[in-house]
Amino acid sequence: RRPTAASPATPFVTEASVEAEPDFDVVVLGGTLGIFAASAFQARGFKVCVIERGPLAGRNQEWNLSLDEVRDLVDAGALHADDIDGAVGTPGKYEVLAGADDTLVASHFGSVRAGFNDQEHGASGSGGALQEVWLPSVLNVGVRPDVAVRRARRRFEEQGGVVKEHTPCNGVVVGEKSAQVTLAEEVITTRLVVDAMGNASPVARQCRREANDGADPRPSGICCVVGTSMAGFAKDNSYGDLIYTNEDTRIHQERQYFWEAFPAMSLGEDARTTYLFTYLDADEMRQHTVEGQFEDYWRMLPTYQKHNADCLNSKRIEDALEDGDLILKRCLYGLFPTYKDSPLPTRWDRVLAVGDASGVQSPLSFGGFGALTRHLGRVTDAVEDALQNDALDRASLTLVNGYAPNIAATWMFQKSFVHPVSSQRPASFVNRLMRQNYVNMEDLGDDVLRPFNQDVVQPRALLQVLGLATLRDPLNILPLCYWIGPQELVEWLGHFGMMLLYDGAHHVLGKRVRAYSHRLPDQRQGFALRRLADAWEYGSGMDY
Ligand SMILES: Cc1cc2nc3c(=O)[nH]c(=O)nc-3n(C[C@H](O)[C@H](O)[C@H](O)COP(=O)(O)OP(=O)(O)OC[C@H]3O[C@@H](n4cnc5c(N)ncnc54)[C@H](O)[C@@H]3O)c2cc1C
Repeated sequence: RRPTAASPATPFVTEASVEAEPDFDVVVLGGTLGIFAASAFQARGFKVCVIERGPLAGRNQEWNLSLDEVRDLVDAGALHADDIDGAVGTPGKYEVLAGADDTLVASHFGSVRAGFNDQEHGASGSGGALQEVWLPSVLNVGVRPDVAVRRARRRFEEQGGVVKEHTPCNGVVVGEKSAQVTLAEEVITTRLVVDAMGNASPVARQCRREANDGADPRPSGICCVVGTSMAGFAKDNSYGDLIYTNEDTRIHQERQYFWEAFPAMSLGEDARTTYLFTYLDADEMRQHTVEGQFEDYWRMLPTYQKHNADCLNSKRIEDALEDGDLILKRCLYGLFPTYKDSPLPTRWDRVLAVGDASGVQSPLSFGGFGALTRHLGRVTDAVEDALQNDALDRASLTLVNGYAPNIAATWMFQKSFVHPVSSQRPASFVNRLMRQNYVNMEDLGDDVLRPFNQDVVQPRALLQVLGLATLRDPLNILPLCYWIGPQELVEWLGHFGMMLLYDGAHHVLGKRVRAYSHRLPDQRQGFALRRLADAWEYGSGMDY
């Protein structure tokens, strides 16, 4: 509820005449995911520069994703196949493979669970017992970001790419011939600026502000995450939890907590990274602090992980830490604001966003790395196409991150996870919904279970899940609609309809439209048609 930071006196992006010839084809601002995007653009033959205000190093804590998402980096040309080393074998059930130090894949575990248990912590609400669904190879790989970034950077520089680290970008001037990027001690020019400055990108913020009459818009949703990486889980460190509840919704605190935990082999064989997260709206009356959520984390952790660490059965958490039974490696937290106007359309010529700055991940996800890798091939094709056909105007670039009905449709799920302030919604609402949907997805098979848990919504799979839910628990449909509310339902129906249309268009017209686009005399129009075909494919999850 703290007031948002004042708008900067001068906008980050301005428009003026820039006469200079471009030094680079692409300048990527921000170097976490930016280095992978830069390497992929370079692999298409472009002259690329990366600007990073800090060290270009990647954090020293595992990113959890799926092996196919790591391999997308190879397909896009950002890494080589032999860069993907370490724990790349196939782990058995309850087996965890560990990659040697300095390998890319640090952890690879055979079992990932989605579990819903309303009884473990506090009084039982909905009365159901623990229900577990074991998921097929989803988020079961822990990648060392520092190794991945170092390898991508080495190849990038060997091929002539330029990295400027400890160099903040202070602004961008967009002109007709090129764009000018202002750094502390120099100005460089480029044909295209790619914004990879993450959630807090000044470009994304300005974009949203300008679309909202000059004021920062309130986020449509927030995911608040706290957690730790700790060693001492020797009793059982053989599986991960993608999503797990151990209580119903806290009505008075207006939140439903979810757990997520993964073995973290880079920190030791008995180390786990554990997160407690919740979805919120930005209601001013909401009482919520990151610190308060951390207090809840410590209070609830022993119940959740007593199966994994013996000491949690007999000692208070403070004592377990003081006695060295648990070794705290680091504390983590994050607030992920999400906006309904995502993916974010660009407002200027020559400016395009990737990664968290582009908003291509759904409001349910707080793992943007997977979101980038999935889109990297598509974005790289689009950047190559735009540079070759001079489709660098705002109207063309907007099509690269255009409307995606399957991302828009996930807002209803986000909404159902948020307990509104002062709502009388039953405490068991979320657990009942999740149990039912996970059982349905499991019964429908891996083709339904897997994409949904990798943040990809496909219309026909969703139709099957909803159909089964209606058949199996028809009495829950009316209360569900009531608590979600008419506005959200109508919006969702619209996006769902668009998803079905995109699915049909992709299958019937996709290939033909792409072939026709290459025959057009004006290749800027060809570019637009190819982006339309991309939108049909990705907007209906058919790229999966
Ligand atoms: C606690 C936590 C756990 C997470 N766990 C996972 C996970 O397990 N798996 C997963 O896939 N994702 C995870 N994520 C999300 C993941 O970290 C982000 O999605 C990812 O880092 C986004 O990358 P990005 O490059 O788009 O943005 P960022 O990582 O935010 O990087 C932006 C970069 O831009 C630079 N920058 C900013 N302003 C400027 C400027 N003016 N000039 C130059 N450079 C600038 C910053 O220094 C930074 O390096 C987690 C995030 C958090 C907070």
